[in-house]
Amino acid sequence: MRDTLAGPRQLIKQLHTVMAAPMQAQDRLNQIVRIIAGNMVAEVSSLYVLRSDGFLELYATHGLNPSAVHRAGLRVGEGLVGRVAKTAQPLNIINPSSHPGFQYLPETDEDEYNTFLGVPVLRAGRMIGVLTVQNRAPRRYDNEEVEALQTTAMVIAEIAGTGDLDQIPQPTAALDIKRQLHVSGAVLNEGIGLGRAILHEPRVVVTELLSDDVEHELARLESALEKVRGNLKAHLSRNDVAAREESRDVLEAFLMIAQDRGWARKMGDVIQSGLTAEAAVERVQSDNRARLLRSTDRMVRERLHDLDDLANRLLRELQGRHSTAMADITGDAIIVARSMGPAELLDYDRARVRGLVMEEGTPASHVVLIARALGIPVIGQAHGVTSMVESGEAIIVDAEGGDVHIRPSAEVENVFAEKVRFRARRHAQFRRLRHLPATTRDGLDITLSMNAGMLADLPNLAESGAAGIGLFRTEVLFMVAPSLPRMHAQELLYRQIYTAAGERPVVFRTLDIGGDKVLPYLSQVDEENPAMGWRAIRLGLDRPGLLRTQIRSLLRAGAGHNLRIMFPMIATVAEFNAARALVDRERRFLHLHGYDLPDEVKIGAMLETPSLLYELEELLAVVDFISVGTNDLFQFAFAADRSNVRVAGRFDTLSQSLLRMLKRIADACVAANVPVTVCGDIASRPLEALCLVGLGFDHLSMPPASIGPVKMALRAVDIGRLRARLLPRLEPGRGNDDIRHLVSRFADAHDVPV
Ligand code: PEP
Ligand code: MG
Repeated sequence: MRDTLAGPRQLIKQLHTVMAAPMQAQDRLNQIVRIIAGNMVAEVSSLYVLRSDGFLELYATHGLNPSAVHRAGLRVGEGLVGRVAKTAQPLNIINPSSHPGFQYLPETDEDEYNTFLGVPVLRAGRMIGVLTVQNRAPRRYDNEEVEALQTTAMVIAEIAGTGDLDQIPQPTAALDIKRQLHVSGAVLNEGIGLGRAILHEPRVVVTELLSDDVEHELARLESALEKVRGNLKAHLSRNDVAAREESRDVLEAFLMIAQDRGWARKMGDVIQSGLTAEAAVERVQSDNRARLLRSTDRMVRERLHDLDDLANRLLRELQGRHSTAMADITGDAIIVARSMGPAELLDYDRARVRGLVMEEGTPASHVVLIARALGIPVIGQAHGVTSMVESGEAIIVDAEGGDVHIRPSAEVENVFAEKVRFRARRHAQFRRLRHLPATTRDGLDITLSMNAGMLADLPNLAESGAAGIGLFRTEVLFMVAPSLPRMHAQELLYRQIYTAAGERPVVFRTLDIGGDKVLPYLSQVDEENPAMGWRAIRLGLDRPGLLRTQIRSLLRAGAGHNLRIMFPMIATVAEFNAARALVDRERRFLHLHGYDLPDEVKIGAMLETPSLLYELEELLAVVDFISVGTNDLFQFAFAADRSNVRVAGRFDTLSQSLLRMLKRIADACVAANVPVTVCGDIASRPLEALCLVGLGFDHLSMPPASIGPVKMALRAVDIGRLRARLLPRLEPGRGNDDIRHLVSRFADAHDVPV
């Protein structure tokens, strides 16, 4: 055991001397960790400080590799240090590297140590960081030592209170506890929600690791598994989920994992080695985590949340605990989480949940699919949010602007409460427009279709009053599928789309994969510029197996319907001709084998690469229709990455160059009598939609939620008058007129709601 331990009194005295001495904050921290190491006869003492983005940064160390300071660290919940931060409890263990939660930080050379004691650094109940000591010799620190370290942690918290730490890179927004805060994030599902925060339950911590009674632990595991499965089945039978195909698919896939024998067997094997059922769940999950985190593929890493969700469910069952979700929520609630699995959201009382904020999360996260099905506004990528808000505090999710307001002032709260009422009124107005045509005041009929990509989108056809589906992004169907859908599975999916669409036309776009749209089950090629790389039709023509299967499935599903297929990222007429030839070949093949075929097949091209503008007449001679993908067309025209926020807002979509480009397309299509649609995001914004119609486009396709606002604007506009104002501005020599301003003023003056 330890040789000496200077009494806590002496330790505190030493610490206070260091604090009183004039020196740089970093030097002070270095001295403090040295004093701790000396007093506790530890080879290592380190301080990690929680940054506002949820990262625990190594701020000072005695004993670990000093070059790791400010360079190494972990996220809250990760590794042993992250676990201390997450639970706000001391962690005192022998042989840390065999602990299920251990995560090795290569920068620190910490592998040689056989003991670990970590305590939270808390100030007024808020997490500031984690203080650790480590020894080479395997020994357990006694209570007195744990207390001494906790006392030191309090002293460090005091330093944080003086603002001394601020001299080093910003430690934490958590210090500023009662201020109104505002965090920006990505809008993953639109809407606005107000309520009280509910911090989604931190991970369940396993403290009992060893057991001699293997049979007992196996029985506990089996019974917990049964309960988890039963609970998921109950979720599946809920009306709101069962009615939405996509959320049902997600949950069914989830249940399949829960029923997976391999998973249960792995946990059983770990129990056989002498661990408790809880430790076995943890161990297998950390193996899974390590494996999945190695993947550079976003979609694969996304699966991790599903597995974490399942592991947590099992742990809660084993410990007889209910999730925070089960606790009574009174009043409106906003769930705040680091990340979430799909079923976890369903544990909450749907009637009370007004929003979801996550530090992680992407548009393809399974929990986001579920939230969409339930109409819950979601903001993701809200870095640090879980350390800025307490359960019960007021919070607003503005998933229109991508902002989270924490502890908002009464004025801010009133503004958003009014916005919610306004949205509800507007929504009611849009609903009333559903069955009315999008006819301008001067009698021009415009077709408004919707963009879709999942079965879950289909109920929106009737909801929005869309004329049809102007763009079905088939890759999205593939992205949410657990494995590559084979021909029959695809055929079935496409049939379901036809059935849901009824008489309304559907334009299927063939797979636009590659770039950032990756399929988790297909290997990916590393490319320096994936957006301009081997994607979409390029991949389809070079490896035609996938494209042929898709075309064949579409032709078979289209029997008795009018089939409309279009190809993405066509850059030359030759590419279009080659793709068209594939369709013709498949048609002949199916005909030869006696299959029923679609009544009519129309084949079109997406116009989204500027090169086609210089081959436009030749293209129009061979296509049945054109769809303008302005998202890509604009990114390539301006050489501005559409997903890079630094440049995304730099160029106005209503600039003369782009509008001239679009006008040229509209004119050429009219002259060649080729139907044309605009299906990029530009069509979804009322002001922009007015301009598109002004340029001569009469078919727009957009997300279903935009149909109401766009229709309302179109029904109020005299397009002839707008055109008379707009078109002269596009004439050569007009200089840099602010067209956005011009059209806004026109809309204001003529009471056109935009
Ligand atoms: C576009 O590029 O405008 C488009 C509609 O396609 P996506 O957004 O799927 O690339
Ligand atoms: Mg595109």
